[in-house]
Amino acid sequence: MKRRNFLKILAMGVIGWGITPEVVAKSLRILPKTPSENLDDNITDYLNKMKYFNKPHDYDVQIDSAIYKVFESTVMRFRRLQQLVGHGNFQILSFDEGLKIAHNYSQVGEFSKAEIRFMEMIFYTEAERYGFLGQKPLNNLTDRIKTKKVIKVPHTGNYLYKGLPLETFKKIKQQVGEQVVLTSGVRGIMKQFLLFLNKAKKSNGNLSLASRSLAPPGYSFHSNGDFDVGQTGLGAANFTTRFTNTDVYIKLSELGYLKLRYPQKNLMGVRFEPWHIKVSIDT
Ligand SMILES: [Zn+2]
Repeated sequence: MKRRNFLKILAMGVIGWGITPEVVAKSLRILPKTPSENLDDNITDYLNKMKYFNKPHDYDVQIDSAIYKVFESTVMRFRRLQQLVGHGNFQILSFDEGLKIAHNYSQVGEFSKAEIRFMEMIFYTEAERYGFLGQKPLNNLTDRIKTKKVIKVPHTGNYLYKGLPLETFKKIKQQVGEQVVLTSGVRGIMKQFLLFLNKAKKSNGNLSLASRSLAPPGYSFHSNGDFDVGQTGLGAANFTTRFTNTDVYIKLSELGYLKLRYPQKNLMGVRFEPWHIKVSIDT
């Protein structure tokens, strides 16, 4: 397996002498080379990667062993933080609030300097360098979800932005019926961090693999109004192509709601996400 461990150099920013990750990231604009110079081969390779998004591929970018322990301890701290504040509150928790709570509660424990550097590195490294080509709606690690602008949707543990996203979801409910559920709504930086790092951890630190099914923190439009829907009773399979066989999916497409953020064969480096409704608004 050929893996580009370019994060090795970035790692020096984390464990070294105050070189900020932003500076190091900017000085390293090397895209992993694709195996072939032939365009057709590259397209085939790309489509293959998207089809088997959950498998490691040649030239995937991996977290370097030098910072692997820091990566793991960060994930564990995030998990403890989510457990302490609760899944609902964690959805919209900001970076600053998260750090403060971790500091104040020994069950979570303070984020170490290396962990904070690691988070900065993940946040400020251009995700295109490991294959994610979507836009980045949040530019700062400290960007927060304005709590006045969101509302908790009863019985879902999720939030939606008031205005167009909430109205869209209500209309969907009316037209599709009780069988449609909100599976994920507004997500702030911390939630996106945990989802992305959890996925990376399951794949032994493979950031490319993780980014094929989860936007890296800062790159998710769940911070700007997009949301996910599913069919009641389908559980985790709502986030698989099995969702396209459900009544909910069929009705949504008939009604014209499926203006997808990540359509089939998209060129953003992201798998097909038929459950992800594109609403994005100015926050
Ligand atoms: Zn989504």
